[in-house]
Amino acid sequence: MDLAEKLMLEIEARRADLVELTQALIRIPTLNPPGEHYRDICDLIDRRLVRHGFHTDLIRAFGAPGDSDKYPRWNIVARKEGAHPGECVHFNSHIDVVEVGRGWTTDPFGGEVKDGKIYGRGACDMKGGLAASIIAAEAFIAICPDFAGAVEISGTADEESGGFGGVAYLAEKGWFNPERVQHVIIPEPLNKDRICLGHRGVWWAEIETHGEIAHGSMPFLGDCAVRHMGAVMHEMETSLFPLLATKRTDMPVVPEGAKQSTLNINSIHGGEAEQDPDYTGLPSPCVPDSCRMVIDRRFLIEEDIDEVQQEVFNVLETVKEARADFRYDVRELQRVLPTMTEKSAPVVQSVARAVAEVMGKEAQYVVSPGTYDQKHIDRIGRLKNCIAYGPGILDLAHKPDEYVGIDDMIESAQVMARSLLDLLGPKG
Ligand SMILES: [Zn+2]
Repeated sequence: MDLAEKLMLEIEARRADLVELTQALIRIPTLNPPGEHYRDICDLIDRRLVRHGFHTDLIRAFGAPGDSDKYPRWNIVARKEGAHPGECVHFNSHIDVVEVGRGWTTDPFGGEVKDGKIYGRGACDMKGGLAASIIAAEAFIAICPDFAGAVEISGTADEESGGFGGVAYLAEKGWFNPERVQHVIIPEPLNKDRICLGHRGVWWAEIETHGEIAHGSMPFLGDCAVRHMGAVMHEMETSLFPLLATKRTDMPVVPEGAKQSTLNINSIHGGEAEQDPDYTGLPSPCVPDSCRMVIDRRFLIEEDIDEVQQEVFNVLETVKEARADFRYDVRELQRVLPTMTEKSAPVVQSVARAVAEVMGKEAQYVVSPGTYDQKHIDRIGRLKNCIAYGPGILDLAHKPDEYVGIDDMIESAQVMARSLLDLLGPKG
């Protein structure tokens, strides 16, 4: 039996361990916001990987957005050196999960197993992927102890809220420096036979329209900021949304609907602030002097960020021409440029071969509609050889009754381990 076959069997033999590990990770409710139990989950990963011969570092992102003594942003990086010098393969998973929301029929933090699936918030996004990468690394080290280079596993905070207390912080401190890490696999739930090369760009901004406050019975004495915002929305429907629908990308973005430019209106707030639910009085009659809209524009690698912004300013200027007293401000909240790793990059090639060997079919190349921590590894870490590959169905992320399939985790752990063998195992 050759090493590759042994490795496949070794992972299959660790099925119960994989299930238990995934359950243990799900049972720590690392809700973000506010960012709870990061230290607890890091400690769990720490204890386990130290037992398997890893050197570990626990790193708190002091001063990062959201970091406080009450909600410290803890991260873990674990490294296992091989027997010879060589390259380092790094698996990066985020340890945070989003809020539970309504509509669950299982305990969101119970890790219940039913019909070959493990249920819970974060099962799919992405504690299942984290567990699969740990099992893959441990099995690889057991079967091929004299490997070259190093294997790293990180668990990082805050991906769901931008990753600034997680991967961005680590990248700034040099943890993703191409001198120490050469290949990065992020086991986000992109389906076990798909390799995710990157993501679209993001531009978040807040548009504010201004008016003048007056008594609601005499609106002619004021200037209604909400009506101005209504005109902005009308212009968006008339000119901007149709324009975005014409912009298509050659990036292999999934799902199909995200192959075009998109814009979401995340929120609109105008006029008197909403009162607490226990307030029993009526609102007061005022003409709103301010209305704010948060937009979430996702753009394509073919688009320029300046052009993306200009389109929004064009809408506002068109409205301004038509309305006397129209005044506005635009505040940028966040920008992330699109990123896409070349198909010829070594980590892409290696994982593609592993998918073909384990599953007997060609890997599909995809690009994510939304961003994930690859942005920081690329922009801050300057490391281009990075992909997302992991078990789980992307559409289940953030939904009620989120689950990860156990067979899917086994197969993707086999792919990860084959890729380790390919990149760090004996040559020839
Ligand atoms: Zn995720």
